[in-house]
Amino acid sequence: MSLVIDCHGHYTTTPPGVGAWRDAQKAAVAADPAFVGEKGTVHVTDDEIRESIEGAQLKLQRERGADLTIFSPRASWMAHHIGNEHTSLFWSQHQNELIRRVCDLYPENFAPVCQLPQSPGVAIDSSVAELERCVNEMGFIGCNVNPDPTGGFWTGPPLHDRYWWPLWEKMCELDVPAMIHVSAACNDNFHSTGSHYLGADTTAFMQALTSGFMADFPGLRWIIPHGGGAVPYHWGRFKGMAEDQGWDFAGLLDHIWFDTCVYHQRGIDLLVDVVPVSNILFASEMVGAVRGVDPETGNHYDDTKIYIDNSSLSDDDRHRIFETNTRAVFPRLALP
Ligand SMILES: [Zn+2]
Repeated sequence: MSLVIDCHGHYTTTPPGVGAWRDAQKAAVAADPAFVGEKGTVHVTDDEIRESIEGAQLKLQRERGADLTIFSPRASWMAHHIGNEHTSLFWSQHQNELIRRVCDLYPENFAPVCQLPQSPGVAIDSSVAELERCVNEMGFIGCNVNPDPTGGFWTGPPLHDRYWWPLWEKMCELDVPAMIHVSAACNDNFHSTGSHYLGADTTAFMQALTSGFMADFPGLRWIIPHGGGAVPYHWGRFKGMAEDQGWDFAGLLDHIWFDTCVYHQRGIDLLVDVVPVSNILFASEMVGAVRGVDPETGNHYDDTKIYIDNSSLSDDDRHRIFETNTRAVFPRLALP
């Protein structure tokens, strides 16, 4: 029997005190872009956390037969483009501390992944420091890295640029992976979860492929979420371009995994057919972008375990996707 580990969950149901703290911070930086302020306190009780989790993520986890969710702050709320480096630092620290509280209340059900206090035009150092704090002092097992902290304008350096290298080095040193995950778009050309998310997934993969920079970081591990954006569907395009250009396509698969947040059976069938099973991690991103029921199947679109169960995978391959691949990518994940 496999454990079923969902590697992609966000705390999308936070109690009202979280949004209230953030709204006050946003109002302050809107009035004064140089506003520093102070970390202050987010007023949330343990009972409120229990209430927010038990009727949502925990209930669905039990109903759908998952054992553990790798849990991080709500991605669309990271909003690194808002305010300045202080804004992002205080906000990220609060969000990460809240994730730690969830995992302390439900240690069997959730394992913590942090957001980073990225900020456009600001050195990556504070993200390195927050990663170190979360992993070494609070037991986090991974991080989310926003490849576009501008929120849809992409004016910052690409992921292979030396700007990012201190973060990649720290991840290797701490032996933690990153999910490469954008936040909400503030550019009206993009729908956040419809086009910006999937475009960013594809973009991150291409930046790694064309640069080949990951070869310089032997232990560096990325998860490309949302089923890998366009990558699995256009596998031949990327592989063919790599062969033309001399990019190391096969070598990239030592560093990159794709999750299963694809919300229909045929999409999952394609994913598991095209991408090597060793590069796929089970995930649902439940209580996320698509919360409804598919009228054709009667199941929730984001109940992705059904698609894996119904796929033509062998039991052995299913076990790898549900459990063993994820354990290998997240070596700090402590499990029974
Ligand atoms: Zn997500």
